[in-house]
Order: sequence, then structure tokens, then C-alpha cells
Amino acid sequence: MPFPGVSDGQKREERVNSNKFSLVQINFTCLLNKPDLVQNYKTESLSCLYSNVYVMSIITDAQNGIVTEEMKIVAWEEGVTEDFVRRGVAQGHIVIPVSPYRKVKICGIGEGLRTKVNASIGTSTDIVNIPEELEKARQAELAGADTLMELSTGGDFIEIRKQVIANTTLSVGCVPLYQAFIEAAQKDGAVVNMNEDDLFRITAEQAKLGTNFMAIHTGINWETVKRLRNQGRHGGLVSRGGAFMTAWMLHNEKENPLYAEFDYLLEIMKEHEVTLSMGNGMRAGAIHDATDRAAVQELLINAELADKAHKDGVQVIVEGPGHVPIDEIATNVQLMKRVTNNKPFYMLGPIVTDIAPGYDDRVAAIGAAISSSLGADFICYVTPAEHLALPTPQEVFEGVISSRIAAHIGDMVKLKKTREADLEMGHARRDLDWERQFAVAINAPRARAIRKERMPADADACTMCGDYCAIKIVNRHFKF
Ligand code: SF4
Repeated sequence: MPFPGVSDGQKREERVNSNKFSLVQINFTCLLNKPDLVQNYKTESLSCLYSNVYVMSIITDAQNGIVTEEMKIVAWEEGVTEDFVRRGVAQGHIVIPVSPYRKVKICGIGEGLRTKVNASIGTSTDIVNIPEELEKARQAELAGADTLMELSTGGDFIEIRKQVIANTTLSVGCVPLYQAFIEAAQKDGAVVNMNEDDLFRITAEQAKLGTNFMAIHTGINWETVKRLRNQGRHGGLVSRGGAFMTAWMLHNEKENPLYAEFDYLLEIMKEHEVTLSMGNGMRAGAIHDATDRAAVQELLINAELADKAHKDGVQVIVEGPGHVPIDEIATNVQLMKRVTNNKPFYMLGPIVTDIAPGYDDRVAAIGAAISSSLGADFICYVTPAEHLALPTPQEVFEGVISSRIAAHIGDMVKLKKTREADLEMGHARRDLDWERQFAVAINAPRARAIRKERMPADADACTMCGDYCAIKIVNRHFKF
């Protein structure tokens, strides 16, 4: 166990009562990179270091003016100053998902940084194929995803998660609630028989697998459910986490434990340095449900809890919809940023029309480009198989590419400097310099393959205009 003194087997009542480790907050990666910090604690016993001596998290580091290795990496990759990243982390406007259990490709998410893309993979009850899931993880990374969510619900999902985590360098996210509900269905006959202690135990166990962020459905409480019931829905409830939790609450007539015992959840997040991604269980699954009362209610609750999480030293992201028509995207982004005090915004899509199954990666890319341009920080990809089937590795690849294109288009507005790549492409096209064009292309192998497949007689031009290549004709008379 990497953290002596961190025990996950205890039931939450014992842990809350003893409060023994409530101040434990260790960024192990940071410690490894800070011999001076470790040195400062040498007068204390090692067990003391890991148990009840307060050790700084990445947020408290930032608030104390310390620039960690992770902040330096993010600053270098994004072309911003280290202090910009430090201030962003300190204020909760930027998160850097880390894990004490695993080294990952460091990725900053939030204000002033490039829009990041997540790819979600995982088995279902119908399709369980571990090699294929590992291939999906590989394709996601190959296509340039920034993070990976492992959401298996079929087969030996714990083993699958372990193997995916072991085979990717990306930050990995998960939804512990799925496992808790599915185990209840398997052992006790129905998801509504889920035991609250199991939910928290599984959350800690998944953290210890080396997951960097977790989508947790904290914002569904009785107020949210009441609004959902009063208003009704055209497209029902499409979030699995939202549906499981709502059904559990109604069946058991109990408050959502993730809301009712949020302090205990934060303890687990702190102990394992997990970034909390506040789930969007009420997201619209149909355009006509966008921005409805249940979704706004959940956002307001999540916003309040997000402030508390940040205050307690837990990095936090807030998730957003869903299915949203283009003319409501700006409202959603502004509302979310305003009520959460500019926490990083994780936009799920959004899907901007409901009538293009088979092309939903493109539909979502339109929504993602607009939402990114308006301030969304993190985009969850959508594959062409959305609403139809579990995606294949090839569809995972295509989904990531579509989202990366969208993120770049958004960043061209949000972060003007990313237009430099487009300038380079413009010049390369003007100069008919094909290698330079491929070097800038988001998916160079595809661009190269299409050209190679239909090579022109004149190697400078392409088969679109052939001998009448407009660029070549003008270049004979002009030097731009
Ligand atoms: S042939 Fe036409 S499309 Fe192709 S490079 Fe020349 S101008 Fe562009």
C-alpha cells in the first residue's frame, strides 16, 4: 500500500467517528519531487507523516505559492507561465488530475488552457472483449485523447479496469457508482438494493487502482428528483448514474448518500488525491429537454458542493449536458461558469440535433466547437456509434479525432494563439508543400492516404483540379 496509514476497509461510520485520517492529504508524486519537503518532516516519524500530520495537496501547494512539477509541466505544454497555472489551481479554475498510485501523462484542464478531450470506453453486458477494450484505449491515445474514462459494466469489470489502467499513460476516470449498483444487482437481485457502505468502499478501491478522476453524482437530491417529476421529460433520463441513483432513492425513500455524506466522500477524494468530476445525472437526452429545471437544479447543487470541495483541498470539475440546441449552448456555458465560480467545465458533447444517428461524432463536434469557443474546458467525445451500439476501436479513434477538431476550432476563438497552426497550413497550401501540410494536419496518416490513393499526373497539384490547379497557375505570376 503506497500510503501507510490510509485504510479503506473501514465502514464510513467508523471513519467519520474516529476522524483519524481526516487531515491526511498527500500528493505523493509531489513529495517524490520535493526532497526538501520530505526533509522538513524528518523530525516526525514516518507513520506520523502519513497519518495525522498535514501534508500539502496540489491545491494547498498552489495556495502557498509552491509551483509543483505538475504545474511546471502544464505551463511548458500550454505555453503559459508557471505562476498562471499555480494561480489557476489555487483558485480552482484549473485542475491537474494526479494519482499517488500511478505516473501519468500530466494534463491540465481549465481556464486559459487548451480544451481537452476525453474518450470513454468500457464493456457492456452484451459485449465483453478485453483485448478489444485494450485496443480502444490504444486507439484513443493514438488519436490524441487527453484522458480516458473506463466505464465497463459487463464481464469482470474490475480486471478490465486494471488492465486498461496498466496499459495507458493517460489520466483515467471512472464512475464508481456503476460498480456499486451492478454488484448489488448481481448479488442482491436489483440495483435498488445497493448498500451505501459498498458505494463508498468501492469509491476508495477504484481510487487505489490509480484512477485520476471520478464522475460522482452528487447533485441528485430530493429537490432535483422533485423537479424532474414535476416537469416530466420528452427523452427520459439517459445518464446511467442518474437513473440508478434516482431509482435507488425512490425505492428506498432515502437521500442520495453521495449528497447526504458529501464530507465523507471528500475524505476519500482527499486521501487518494482523486479529482472530483461532479456528475451530470439529469442531463438532457433529447434536445427538447435541454436546460430544464431538473438539470439546472442539479447544477446549482453541484456548484455549491464544488465550492466546498475546493475549500477542502479537493480538485473539482463540474460536468454539463448532454443534448443542447445551438442557441442554448452559450446560456449553458455562461450559467455553469457563473454559478460554479469558474470551475473547469466538462461538457458531455453536446449533441445539437437528435436526428442523425450514425453521425453523432460530427453532431457533437459542432456542439463541442461552439461550447469550447465559449469557455468549456473539457469535452467528452461522442462516437459514430452513439445511441446505436458499443463503439468499436475504429469508432473510438474517429470519435476522438472529431472531438479534437472541435476542441481546436473552439480554441481558435478562446485562445487566439492556436490559430498559428492554421496560418502554417495556409502557407503550406499556398506553397503546394504537401509534407508541411501533413505535418500540421490533425490526422496526417488519413490525409496522406487519401492523397496517395488518388495521385495526380502533376505531383505539385492534386486530382481535384489537376492541370488547372488554381494555386499553381497564380503562383506562376505572383510571389505572395
Ligand atoms: S489542384 Fe485544386 S484543390 Fe488541388 S491543390 Fe491545386 S487548387 Fe488546391
